[in-house]
Amino acid sequence: MSCLMVESLGAVSFESPDQNAVCSRTLGDGGLKGAPAGLQSERRGSYPSIDLRLLNRELSTKRKVKRLLSFQRYLHAQRRLRGPGFQNSLHLLDEDYQGQAVHMLSKVGTWSFDIFLFDRLSNGNSLVTLLCHLFNVYGLIRHFQLDMVKLHRFFGMVQEDYHSQNPYHNAIHATDVTQAMHCYLQEPKIAHHLTPLDVFLALLAAAAHDVDHPGVNQSFLIKTKHHLASLYQNSSVLENHHWRSLVGMLRECSLLSHLPPSTLRDIEQQLGSLILATDISRQNEFLGRFKSHLDNKDLQLEDAGHRHFMLQMALKCADVCNPCRDWELSSQWSERVCEEFYRQGDLERKCHLEISPLCDQQLETIPVIQIGFITYIVEPLFEEWMRFTNGSLLANNMLGHLKRNKALWRQLLHTQHKQAAGRATPSRGGTGVP
Ligand SMILES: [Zn+2]
Repeated sequence: MSCLMVESLGAVSFESPDQNAVCSRTLGDGGLKGAPAGLQSERRGSYPSIDLRLLNRELSTKRKVKRLLSFQRYLHAQRRLRGPGFQNSLHLLDEDYQGQAVHMLSKVGTWSFDIFLFDRLSNGNSLVTLLCHLFNVYGLIRHFQLDMVKLHRFFGMVQEDYHSQNPYHNAIHATDVTQAMHCYLQEPKIAHHLTPLDVFLALLAAAAHDVDHPGVNQSFLIKTKHHLASLYQNSSVLENHHWRSLVGMLRECSLLSHLPPSTLRDIEQQLGSLILATDISRQNEFLGRFKSHLDNKDLQLEDAGHRHFMLQMALKCADVCNPCRDWELSSQWSERVCEEFYRQGDLERKCHLEISPLCDQQLETIPVIQIGFITYIVEPLFEEWMRFTNGSLLANNMLGHLKRNKALWRQLLHTQHKQAAGRATPSRGGTGVP
């Protein structure tokens, strides 16, 4: 696909049914109930029908989980009334801190980039700060003639629509995936083929790929008969929601309203195709296609369709790249994702629902979950990515971390087994029998 002709200033007509994406976002539940049949649009704050505040209250004493849900939603509502205000919070930190965050951005293309430190130094505005930087660096603001006020408002909305009380699926994960995507876009195999539109789509899809994630998985939404499950007929429920939420925000901000309607529709569809590719249940489908292309050596990156497929693969890699980072970063992500699984399991137990796989903290340990995740999801994907990049420096670096991290999880598992055996021995009636 050729670059966008940004000189064209045709106004976008919102008379199509999709316009309701904006309407339903502002109307909340009432908007959804009154929406026409077949509507695929979203609003903010689509929590599961079981109130997660119950869970937070339950866990707050023993795990010191912050009980911020209702307070945060109140703040969000206030922010919406006030308009964009995220920039102001940056002034809570002194200039030294902001200076350090800016300094960190000079190394944003390095794989060892510490996303947690960056988030602290940017006072929790890591996603907005990173996106502003990358849009500038790639020249996207000038190329697409983006309005800076609208752009800042849009970035702020995306960041705010992530749930900060989620241990894993929060705005830091989105920032991490966006930073990884930036690294992949620099791969020599891809870089010189990319158009500004490719980069724009890749960064936006990475930034918004989990937006408004409720902190529970699709099977939870289906078994609790959440409205999103019925809206998307139990298929890629979360990914459809992330995509439609992104479309709603783009329209609400009128960020691209100066582009021709056909271009806008194309952008929205491509964003959907990228975000829907992150559905882990479609892993084998994508991996099979990837392998087949590599075996046949038929990927032509001059072809827009092939480039789009590679961006899908890049986003899939970025989404599950945690085990390919340094252990110090990788292990933090592992603890966070397992904490989110366990919270879902605790909620299911509390509600007398069947506990989902990986979510029972009485059965599943972090090393076991991580070794399985690496073996069945991450390793097969990154081995193909290595092939695709012809063994680039970055791909080698990532696979090196992956193998070291897997070995460390195995060591930890071994230690746990030894400790469990040690505890079990004296309990055998104290007989001293081995
Ligand atoms: Zn994700």
